[in-house]
Amino acid sequence: MDKDLRLKLAVQKSGRLTDPSVDLLVRCGLKFSRGKDQLVGYGENMPLDLLFVRDDDIPDLVQEDVSDLGLVGLNVIEEKRLELAARGTAARFEVLRSLDFGRCRLSIAVPDGTLFTGPDWLRGKRIATTYPYLLAHYLAERKIEAEIVTLSGAVEIAPRLGRADAICDLVSTGSTLVANRLHEVETVLESHAVLIRTPVALPAVKNEWVERLLMRIDGVQQVKESKYIMLHAPRAALAEIRGLLPGSESPTIIPLDGHPDKVAIHAVCRENVFWETLESLKKAGASALLVLPVEKMLA
Ligand code: ATP
Ligand code: ZN
Repeated sequence: MDKDLRLKLAVQKSGRLTDPSVDLLVRCGLKFSRGKDQLVGYGENMPLDLLFVRDDDIPDLVQEDVSDLGLVGLNVIEEKRLELAARGTAARFEVLRSLDFGRCRLSIAVPDGTLFTGPDWLRGKRIATTYPYLLAHYLAERKIEAEIVTLSGAVEIAPRLGRADAICDLVSTGSTLVANRLHEVETVLESHAVLIRTPVALPAVKNEWVERLLMRIDGVQQVKESKYIMLHAPRAALAEIRGLLPGSESPTIIPLDGHPDKVAIHAVCRENVFWETLESLKKAGASALLVLPVEKMLA
């Protein structure tokens, strides 16, 4: 196939988003082989190639149409959007999907023992960050003037080095903050990975594959929590039992041979089925309960 008719998707080369990004694409059915330089993954069963790059480069690559698609953190694209706006231009990438990985938040943290009284405490303080535009936006919205100390990394040690009074950094579990005797006080942005696309119109063949990929991504995201549940129920308790099935719209009700007072219920639950649910179902009279993982789903 013509090289220009193959979709290019930029993913982080090595970092927190790499494994979940590749995992998502593999679940979407992609088989790929990595070239010698490890920079490109050639799709073997789809006209889709992966570009392995630094996550910070992904918005530009997509916006400048070097890559058609990109998987990157919302934090990176929102920072980029504000940076471009400050330079008088508008971001041109389009967010196609929010994804359920790369969850973290951009937060303000202060040294333990600080008497933080609210955002106003930040007035006149020095705040170290690698996200100067998002931080400036947060401060401007609250009409707080503070000094932004822009660093390229190791933000969490800035207070100990006397370079800052507070930091604004990405947090997921908070263990890095604890290790540096800091604690979170304000959330600037809730983040997760997103799929972005180029603003440039694509040839029909490429567009078709974007659509197919989106449909598969939706399917993959849906099945993650979904379960297929099978059980036997007394007809008399049908209404109650149906009400207990988490997130299932139209279960299949099947008569049971030789048991006129009982039916089998098969249902797809869009939420995880916990032990507590099974216990409630059993209490309501259900028996022969079976919960299976759902592998693929196409609405
Ligand atoms: P690169 O070399 O590609 O520039 P990096 O050091 O900027 O890598 P990572 O630390 O791998 O990037 O983080 C990539 C993305 O993972 C972040 O932009 C963010 O969206 C997400 N992420 C999730 N949890 C965290 C966390 N606790 N700290 C930092 N990033 C996180
Ligand atoms: Zn980065």
